[in-house]
Amino acid sequence: MTSLIHRSQFPLLAAAPELVYLDSAATSQKPRAVLDAVRDFYENDYANPHRGAYELSVRATTRYHAARERVASFLGVRDADCVIFTRGTTEALNLVAGAWGRANVNAGDEVVVTGAEHHANFVPWQQLALERGARFRICEIESDGTVDLDRLRALLSPRTKVVAFAHVSNVLGTIAPVREMAELAHRVGALAVCDGAQGAPHLRVRFDEMGVDVYAASGHKMLGPMGIGVLAARRELLERMPPFLMGGDMIEFVEDDHSTWNVLPHKFEAGTPNAAGAVGLAAAVDVLEGVGMDAVRAHEHALVASAYDRLSAIDGVHIHGPGADARGGVLSFTVGDVHPHDLATILDTRHVCIRAGHHCAQPLMRRLGVSATARASFYVYNDASDVDALAGGIVAAKELFGSVAV
Ligand code: PMP
Repeated sequence: MTSLIHRSQFPLLAAAPELVYLDSAATSQKPRAVLDAVRDFYENDYANPHRGAYELSVRATTRYHAARERVASFLGVRDADCVIFTRGTTEALNLVAGAWGRANVNAGDEVVVTGAEHHANFVPWQQLALERGARFRICEIESDGTVDLDRLRALLSPRTKVVAFAHVSNVLGTIAPVREMAELAHRVGALAVCDGAQGAPHLRVRFDEMGVDVYAASGHKMLGPMGIGVLAARRELLERMPPFLMGGDMIEFVEDDHSTWNVLPHKFEAGTPNAAGAVGLAAAVDVLEGVGMDAVRAHEHALVASAYDRLSAIDGVHIHGPGADARGGVLSFTVGDVHPHDLATILDTRHVCIRAGHHCAQPLMRRLGVSATARASFYVYNDASDVDALAGGIVAAKELFGSVAV
């Protein structure tokens, strides 16, 4: 199995042929096209968008707006003004919990998340519930890491105001039944919030058809720059929701005793935006659509299925989560009593980069009964040789540690 996009397109990978990069769920490598787009913006069209009446600022504004339209079409959002640029998924989710949550969640209400959430889609809701006197409820996941719709249904009531869940788990790779979960939330009148940090980079997202009210994603995990992300949300929701950050650009009029707000998307983009990041993200989605998201999914599925088989065959390896067909390109595992950090260190001596730790999901680690796992994650530049290197590294680590208690 060859890579979907050749590593020669990624300057860092091209310069380090020995490197086996298996940490794309943390952040992806950047193709030359993205680096060139960012550089081109700074070299040719750089000024503060929306600020000046001069031609250069108009050019910067035009590129920033074009980036929004490009990203909106990639995510299947017809109304591009409903795509808000943020720093990333974390900021997007905090925006909704902070602005919508404070205005709509009250004492006696309930806020529901799953037991598999990243801290970015757990802590803001937990803290909102604590602040508002609401009840924070956790929908337990099944032993294979999936969400059972009957269990979720049983947890919901007319008091439920929010159901927040990941499109794809960053630890288990589990792909959520998004449409069904959104429908259950809507049946009780709750907001359906989808954390798409691991969804948008790997699966075809059609926001307008998915049924969720909110979808958040991070550019840096989908070939784009760090420090740019998106919040896509329904227009009525954004219009009713108070602003989150206040300052320049997001106002209409500022009187001495009150202010009024700008139209979408500006109402939620206070201050100087990360226009270069947005331009880079637009270039990234061009690259992804150049190969097609169905091909991205098929490529990762083939890699993860092969890795799943290879790792399962190694004595002492335990893979957490569902089978390869129900997951994205993420594989979390433990190897007997070898600490995941030791495993990652040994793999690093063989130039294999994997993540080890709690993956910002301590509640999930407790449910899995482990303090940490090792995680390998695949993307468009990986190929069969990377799976070989991973499996070979694990076998070598086992040998180094002698007998491994299983
Ligand atoms: N949710 C999930 C599922 C993630 O994997 C991540 C990143 N690890 C985040 C949220 C947070 O994304 P960011 O750090 O880019 O804000």
